Amino acid sequence: MIAKTTVKPTARLVEVFSAIQGEGLNVGTRQIFIRFGLCDLRCHFCDSAHTWDAPSRCKIERSPGLRDFEIHSNPIPLAMLIKWVERQNLPSLHDSISLTGGEPLLHAPFLAQFLPEVRSLTNLPIYLETGGHRPEQLAMLLPYLDTVGMDLKLPSVSGESHWTEHKQFLQLCFDANLEIFVKIIVSQRTDPGELERSALLVSGVSQNIPLFLQPVTPLADSEKFSQVPVLAPSPDQVLEWQALMKRFVKQVRVIPQTHKMLKQL
Ligand code: SF4
Repeated sequence: MIAKTTVKPTARLVEVFSAIQGEGLNVGTRQIFIRFGLCDLRCHFCDSAHTWDAPSRCKIERSPGLRDFEIHSNPIPLAMLIKWVERQNLPSLHDSISLTGGEPLLHAPFLAQFLPEVRSLTNLPIYLETGGHRPEQLAMLLPYLDTVGMDLKLPSVSGESHWTEHKQFLQLCFDANLEIFVKIIVSQRTDPGELERSALLVSGVSQNIPLFLQPVTPLADSEKFSQVPVLAPSPDQVLEWQALMKRFVKQVRVIPQTHKMLKQL
């Protein structure tokens, strides 16, 4: 008789730390960030290109906010990640757990086991930050998510085009009654026709989904991987685009990356 073996789930992590969320609907709240390795997109403006290939080691903060990192080798067993999150979870400090990356949904089988456990242990809501292009993986995790921040990638700015997947993805979140918002990175190269198409895509699911226009943060030379220039939009451009999108969607807010202003991670 062949013995039944169970595969122990593991994750390829970049870092775990406690910080102030700098983007979107949860801006200003305190979160435990779990940054996963791997991403299958190549956005021109990416400020996390170091996450694309899973690193051999990850940085784990010992005490929330103190940046007293210890280094561990990937892959990381589920039980170990649970232990690190519990260590971060001091009473009343955090508002939620942020799954970020990279693209966290590339870890969907791991998350399907990790999320129910971490949720019941910490009682913290789970917030997913995602490129919004993997509806199949999202469907595996819907019961364990509370909030989803979906990036909608404009081809003129990101170099990526995923209109059909974005639509399916947003509809799945909406049908599951999750708290959702859509984030769109805008630069000087933004095509207003793509903004109108995006607003129609969102309003086709619900006019009440908040939409965030995020002016791109220009990258330092050491962070650049693309030859395409990434320049912040002008004040006039942002005013015009917000007005354009508000014809279709009720809430269109313009918020830059505040964590970079605060010099947060
Ligand atoms: S989806 Fe995010 S991590 Fe991936 S390339 Fe785009 S900005 Fe970078």
